[in-house]
Amino acid sequence: MSVAGETAADGPVARLKKLDNEAVLLEHIAAAISWDQETYMPQGAVEERAHQQALLQSLVHERNTAPEIGELLAAAGVDPGADEQDVPAALVEKLGEVDAAFLREKRRQFQHSTRLPARLVRELAETGSRGQNAWITARKENDYPQFRPWLEKLIGLSRETADALGHSGERYDALLDQYEPYMTTADVVSVFGTLREGLVDLVQRISDAPQVDDSFLNTRFPVDQQEEMSRRVMTALGYDLDRGRLDRSAHPFTTALGAHDVRITTRYDEELLTSSLFSTIHETGHALYELGVGEDLHGTLLAEGTSLGIHESQSRMWENMIGRSRPFWQRWMPDLQAVFPRQLRDVPVEAFYRAVNKVQPSLIRVEADEVTYSLHIILRFELEQQLINGTLSVEDLPEAWNAKMKEFLDVVPPRNAEGVLQDVHWSFGAFGYFPTYALGNLYAAQFLNTMEKQLPSMWEEIATGKTRPILDWLRSNIHQYGKVRSARQLIRGITGTDLDPGFFLRYLTDKYGELYSL
Ligand code: ZN
Repeated sequence: MSVAGETAADGPVARLKKLDNEAVLLEHIAAAISWDQETYMPQGAVEERAHQQALLQSLVHERNTAPEIGELLAAAGVDPGADEQDVPAALVEKLGEVDAAFLREKRRQFQHSTRLPARLVRELAETGSRGQNAWITARKENDYPQFRPWLEKLIGLSRETADALGHSGERYDALLDQYEPYMTTADVVSVFGTLREGLVDLVQRISDAPQVDDSFLNTRFPVDQQEEMSRRVMTALGYDLDRGRLDRSAHPFTTALGAHDVRITTRYDEELLTSSLFSTIHETGHALYELGVGEDLHGTLLAEGTSLGIHESQSRMWENMIGRSRPFWQRWMPDLQAVFPRQLRDVPVEAFYRAVNKVQPSLIRVEADEVTYSLHIILRFELEQQLINGTLSVEDLPEAWNAKMKEFLDVVPPRNAEGVLQDVHWSFGAFGYFPTYALGNLYAAQFLNTMEKQLPSMWEEIATGKTRPILDWLRSNIHQYGKVRSARQLIRGITGTDLDPGFFLRYLTDKYGELYSL
């Protein structure tokens, strides 16, 4: 991608880019030591590492809030204090799409970093870290009351954060915007409303149908072979090990240490073959997005995924829509059988395909299948919205959680450890994050619908192992733009319409209607 822009080496845009690049370099250094902490760092280094991180974060913050940034934005033609989202059209005309987007995102970052008082940032970080410790114990001991005061405190701090960032009456808007920029609570309420109705109905119909047999997966799969299989699949999908690594960690994640160093981790459990396999494909999807950002954006704040929802659309498209498709296993089943002959030699492709798509309402979000997953998210979205606007008290939360589980999935957690205490997010104050997981499913299905029209032989090619055209499509339509185009601009530009949950519902109805003979 190349768009002509202002290139004067001594102009305000060039100076902003220099300051921005220093902040990006510091962030990548912070990512490197954080990756190390999650993978190989010895336990004894925890305390020192926290000080190292704090120093780096304060250096980044200093660079992003320097008064000079505001002056340079103004000199470049952008009002640093304005509440508008876009930069003036004349500026886009003059600078081109990329530099105009750079100014838009730089102002957004400047506002976010200057509007939050240092006291609040510190208090959130400290309360979040102690809240997370309290949550670990509370979950282990199934003791919600122990976690309650922390949750109350974190909700209070999140409200303060929303007020500091600014909103027009709906505090949740400001929190959501941190993770899914430019999307509003009303947008989410609207798409999730339609989605919930369609999903509850589909889950009900599947529950009434005969269940698929996945009993052959209940055996042992040595982790070394699982890792071998994960490596084969991720490299076949286009992940370049010269620009990344696969390591092990307690929770799988993807992190960018630079434009040419995007690493993923996974975890292995001898009794759970599909868990490592699909989480590796999931993280590969995230990594391919980061690795596909256009070279002209490298080293700037534009060189990353545009929103968590779009990021999640990439991981979920590879994991579920492609990785759990029949053609994909027509290609990969012989390999899997060669790696695990004793366990899978006699399992037909069709049986494996059905087993990895088994739908079953369950208590735990991270173990949920493709159909029920988004209901777990809608539940969290509805509850956290009420917690933030004060219509639900922390005291009544477990009861409200269980009532919604009954309503959406017809299952009720026997203990809070398997209910309201199961996720880490609220324990460090991440309100507004959850919706992005389900938005990812919706974006992915809508992108897929357009992709299928533009790559009419994609499914036949997947069956022969040819996924390169898919990666090329994603790169040219989505990845190369980084943060230049917002989620809304991408979905409109690529598919011709705004986000519409109908695409995901039709995708699920087609796939599972056939699978469960509905
Ligand atoms: Zn993900």
